[in-house]
Amino acid sequence: MAQIVIIGAGPAGVSAALYARRGGAEVVVISSGKDTGSLTKAHKIENYYGLAESVSGEELFQRGIEGAKRIGVDFIEDDVVAVTFAEDFHGFQVETKQKNFDAASVILAAGAAHKTLPIPGVREFEGKGVSYCAICDAFFYRQKNVAVIGAGEYALHEVLALLPHAAQVTLLTNGEEPACPFPESVAIRKDKLSAVEGSIRVQQVRFPDGSVLPVDGVFLAMGVAGSTELARKMGVMLEGNAIKVDEHMATNIPGIFAAGDCTSGLRQVAKAVYQGAEAGLAALRFLREKDV
Ligand SMILES: Cc1cc2nc3c(=O)[nH]c(=O)nc-3n(C[C@H](O)[C@H](O)[C@H](O)COP(=O)(O)OP(=O)(O)OC[C@H]3O[C@@H](n4cnc5c(N)ncnc54)[C@H](O)[C@@H]3O)c2cc1C
Repeated sequence: MAQIVIIGAGPAGVSAALYARRGGAEVVVISSGKDTGSLTKAHKIENYYGLAESVSGEELFQRGIEGAKRIGVDFIEDDVVAVTFAEDFHGFQVETKQKNFDAASVILAAGAAHKTLPIPGVREFEGKGVSYCAICDAFFYRQKNVAVIGAGEYALHEVLALLPHAAQVTLLTNGEEPACPFPESVAIRKDKLSAVEGSIRVQQVRFPDGSVLPVDGVFLAMGVAGSTELARKMGVMLEGNAIKVDEHMATNIPGIFAAGDCTSGLRQVAKAVYQGAEAGLAALRFLREKDV
């Protein structure tokens, strides 16, 4: 049976992996080593079934991974930067900074939506010059000046998507050091940011010393790409900041499923485990129906 790629090694991703693997699929779980998710931030978990004594989130996280490895699930530590439709393969490609993975089905389980940059103008100009998806929107910025906010591999991925279209791409690291080499044609400013400004659409970015950088578009790519950023790039439907799923965790794109904190509702381990199980089984059914 073909491969299911799961993005995220938290309770949703690992639960999906257990059900998909036990159903006979080849399963790869890719998870970020930099952002290990919500569970690892929980000091104590004591409201989950079967815990006679409380357990740290970190320990539960590791136990989950060990259990899935025991039944043959492969784990890769890397940041996923995009999921795309495969050209020569009836499925998807999951892109990490190291390599691309073919997948007949993908389960998005990368946790809650990431915080957006808390400065004036970001929320106000979303869709009016503030974008979270370079692949989706680069074409609208032909021969225009754009800025990418971020400093790591995800920001580099967005920069590379914009360079063939934009007149100038500036990387704004918002006080961070660039974490990887960026092309020489990209201007880099490391100052903190204080606002995104404009009238009907974005016109400039302001720095704390009062200086401004005129730009037509601002692309947010801080840290590691979250579930909703990855979903947006594929045209997966969202409801607010959450991925829209049906009762079997299917998104609007056949073969793409989502589970856990990236969908709406309760943000708890129990819900992530249930939805993961449902997504794993639904992905198996999808492969069987496609006969791959
Ligand atoms: C401080 C705190 C305390 C909590 N206490 C409790 C509690 O007591 N009880 C309870 O039930 N719940 C608690 N929760 C909530 C619970 O931790 C979450 O509901 C649960 O972890 C969600 O699971 P998930 O698998 O959807 O996401 P997460 O656990 O967030 O896992 C996300 C996974 O995605 C990976 N990832 C993200 N982006 C990428 C990328 N671009 N590429 C590759 N991998 C990526 C991460 O590395 C991680 O493996 C708490 C949460 C916090 C923050």
